[in-house]
Amino acid sequence: MKITVMNRIRILTFVLMGVFPAICWSAQPEIRRDIHFPNLPGYKTLACDFHMHTVFSDGNVWPIVRVNETWRQGLNAIAIADHIEYQPHKSDIPIQYGRSYEVAENAARSHNMLLIRAAEITRDTPPGHFNAIFLNDVKPLVTPEFTDAIKAANEQGAFVFWNHQAWKGEEKGQWLDVHQMLFDKKWFQGMEVANGDEYFPTAHQWCLEKNLTMLGNTDIHEPDLRKESTSQDHRTMTLVFVKEATPAGIKEALLAKRTIVWFKDQLIGREELLRPFFDACIKVSKPNTRSKTSMYVEVRNNCHADICLEPTNLPPVPQPRLLVLPANSTALLRVPITDASKPGVVTCVARNFLIGPDKCLQVTLKVPNPPAPEKKKGK
Ligand SMILES: [Zn+2]
Ligand SMILES: [Zn+2]
Repeated sequence: MKITVMNRIRILTFVLMGVFPAICWSAQPEIRRDIHFPNLPGYKTLACDFHMHTVFSDGNVWPIVRVNETWRQGLNAIAIADHIEYQPHKSDIPIQYGRSYEVAENAARSHNMLLIRAAEITRDTPPGHFNAIFLNDVKPLVTPEFTDAIKAANEQGAFVFWNHQAWKGEEKGQWLDVHQMLFDKKWFQGMEVANGDEYFPTAHQWCLEKNLTMLGNTDIHEPDLRKESTSQDHRTMTLVFVKEATPAGIKEALLAKRTIVWFKDQLIGREELLRPFFDACIKVSKPNTRSKTSMYVEVRNNCHADICLEPTNLPPVPQPRLLVLPANSTALLRVPITDASKPGVVTCVARNFLIGPDKCLQVTLKVPNPPAPEKKKGK
């Protein structure tokens, strides 16, 4: 058959339509959507989840999936904490303590995710479940006695925290003699104040009273299908403020209690950390315009969570009672001037910055003074 010019064009078109999309399709990279929380002076902010499960205990995913999904959602560090005492898949997947870490290790390296070796010590409640992270070896924690497992974790220099304190009810999540003994020996250093969709106010209160580190984790068992972390839809996670972004850096920060828990629309933490964090998140501009009675200023929210403010010294009109500053956005605010000789100040309650159960952070937005008008130079 003679190949005419038209036939050549048709053949070429066919090849291009068939082959090029296939090439482009196969070349699609994995996409990560970053989480933007500000750093604090001297510290880098890492988004972490220290509690999740895989098929090596009662989870329903292979360990590499945990790396892929958390990387995609913008996290920086994870710990897979498979149960030591509970392996319902063992007829298909033989018990291998710590194997989930080994399986996920290469994927963590290729995705530049910090992976921490961990396990969940899973005894009846009370005393409840405890995570041990920064382990060297899970096997020494396989002991008949609960306290021996916690002791073995501490002998490896692990950071140990009490999980989901009231998941079987407050009456079973009480602080008992066994907890006091562990606390006195400094054998656990933190508590989950949030686990998945649950917040534990008693755990929050104990962290404040007993000076324990606050943590928030997913305890996820199923695949997480989220493609990104948004203010409205994200994992429960712990923001850790590190001197260096390494597992050792995270451990130092956890022991120093430099954490904020991001749970639903709440940021939960100690006042001494939430206050500088708020100040790092919010930037107030100089007035755009200014009259005798009011000025317009821009309020920038530099963080990944919406911030909800309740002004306490502004007239309700024209401002709404609650000001929601959307994540990574700028809001325009009209600030009344009551005394022109003083700088503009808006006092607020930060409704979603929780410094204690039912206790919100009080904040002040200060409007920077505009530069003094330049004096005209005389001749
Ligand atoms: Zn548990
Ligand atoms: Zn768990």
